[in-house]
Amino acid sequence: MRATTKYINQDALAHNLKTLSALAPQSQCIAVIKSNAYGCEIAHAVTALRDADLFAVASIDEAIAVREIDAHKPILLLEGVFEQDDIAYALANQFEPVIATPQQLDLVLALEGCFSRLWFKLDTGMGRLGFQADSADKAMQQLLTRYEQKDIVIMTHFSDADTPERDNTEAQISRFDAFARAYPECKQCLCNSAGTIAYPEAHRDFIRPGLALYGVSPFENCLGETHGLRPVMTLKTRVVSIKSFEKGEPIGYGQTYKMPEAGRIAVCEVGYADGYLRFIPTGTPVLIAGREYSLAVCQG
Ligand SMILES: *Cc1c(COP(=O)(O)O)cnc(C)c1O
Repeated sequence: MRATTKYINQDALAHNLKTLSALAPQSQCIAVIKSNAYGCEIAHAVTALRDADLFAVASIDEAIAVREIDAHKPILLLEGVFEQDDIAYALANQFEPVIATPQQLDLVLALEGCFSRLWFKLDTGMGRLGFQADSADKAMQQLLTRYEQKDIVIMTHFSDADTPERDNTEAQISRFDAFARAYPECKQCLCNSAGTIAYPEAHRDFIRPGLALYGVSPFENCLGETHGLRPVMTLKTRVVSIKSFEKGEPIGYGQTYKMPEAGRIAVCEVGYADGYLRFIPTGTPVLIAGREYSLAVCQG
């Protein structure tokens, strides 16, 4: 049997949710569990993160998978919906779509029924989804023909809250406030993991951490433990060969790695097809029987 397996620590997931929620005690916490909970498996995440106020997923298929495990938790559709059938389905199941494009706005306005809550996305500088300043007011006015402010959350996404440079994020927050000021009863949601940790002034009504829930720091050269987070996933495999080499002998594809000294190379049964990517650098720590070794090259 193949020995390469990922192990998910549900206690660590629950701990990380508590840690992030404690950073923003006035805010509700949306646990982002898109893309199969960042590879940690939706079922594990839904169980371990049951204290979250909402779950957020990317697609309607994921929302259905979450609903099968948890019958009640509100589910936010981060990308919204794109087709009439999907939006009708989302309405029937009371999923909560993001409205980020004029087409999505039209789909929602054409429905007979109403969602209990909608998420109105503003593009404050990310340059991907969301209404830009010149069209956002008009779109919001249209939405307000059918919905009350209290049932709408204004949201935006940060482009680089994970870098030490603060100007861009501060400008995004200012643009957000300039728009949201006109809609004082709408709730507000800005922060991904990096925003949750580094921009407490932007916590507002809801935070939306993903990566940090899984124990990973969003900041470069920084470990999750710096923020009191615990690693959630452990990847284990086995050593299938150990051979000796002389100084200077090449190892692996392209012969880019040369033995710095005479020594032994262990080959592990894992590679890029398993998600252990070839750009994982030489020197990355690998634990073998509890002792730390250093990766020569990732193959696959
Ligand atoms: C993925 C995602 C998040 C979570 O981001 P992290 O950096 O993983 O914390 C939050 N909001 C939106 C819109 C996303 O797509």
